[in-house]
Amino acid sequence: MPSSRTASFSPAVSEPDIYDLFAVKYATHGRTQAANFVDPPDPHEAMPIDYFIWAAVSKTRTYVIDMGFTEETAIDRGRTFIRCPAEALELVGVEAKDVKDVIVTHFHYDHIGNFDKFPKADFHLQDREMAFATGRHMLNPEYGASMNVDDVVGIVRHLYGHRVQFHDGDAELASGISLHHIGGHTDGLQCVRVMTKRGWVVVASDACHLYANMETRNPFPISFDLDTVFAGYDRLSELAPSPGHIVPGHDPLVLDRYPAVSEDLKGIAVRLDVDPVPQ
Ligand SMILES: [Zn+2]
Repeated sequence: MPSSRTASFSPAVSEPDIYDLFAVKYATHGRTQAANFVDPPDPHEAMPIDYFIWAAVSKTRTYVIDMGFTEETAIDRGRTFIRCPAEALELVGVEAKDVKDVIVTHFHYDHIGNFDKFPKADFHLQDREMAFATGRHMLNPEYGASMNVDDVVGIVRHLYGHRVQFHDGDAELASGISLHHIGGHTDGLQCVRVMTKRGWVVVASDACHLYANMETRNPFPISFDLDTVFAGYDRLSELAPSPGHIVPGHDPLVLDRYPAVSEDLKGIAVRLDVDPVPQ
């Protein structure tokens, strides 16, 4: 745009957009440490995990991060379903039917169900995750067991409907929000970095299931490539200004450390754009 330049002219430095960032719990699973660590300190000790859906909301844009699983899948897999994750977004002011962008961190069953509840959305995913979920590695039951074939086929149908946006590595989706390929847990796993009023916050999803996986360098036992899981921990640390800016994918402590969205939503929905309470 033409402008009259004077000695005092200085172009505006463009600051990234700022997002509100929420985590909403939709399910849980009682289990022991044996299911959460490659080398469990006490395999018989109870250690439940939670299931979350995330939303990043700026003045002009809304991104939903993952879609959780359906009640049917919860029954099939023996998980405790608390609320439909797509409907639960309403608790933080997001209507699934209006969402235009859904980020798919990876194709595991607990992250890609419910795609039909986002009729206007494009799905953002890594090239490598589509290749992983539809290629030779699914012949290995160890990798295929965490996928629901109907969910994978559903995303493939949306590909043919031109509603998939592919990314290869790191990508800036819009000002203040970017995707970063991590791999390890699945070959095409990605995390999401979001600018908030407290700086960059990294939604790790399953690049770090639980705080303790990363803090004690003792990974979650389901992985495609363990070396890459460790490299992923380092990458998360590079992307975040501090460990307190990394949000693990399945840790019930997230609900203790971050403030509830409101009094009514204690134990259900928290704000990740506010500093966590020190433990
Ligand atoms: Zn998961």
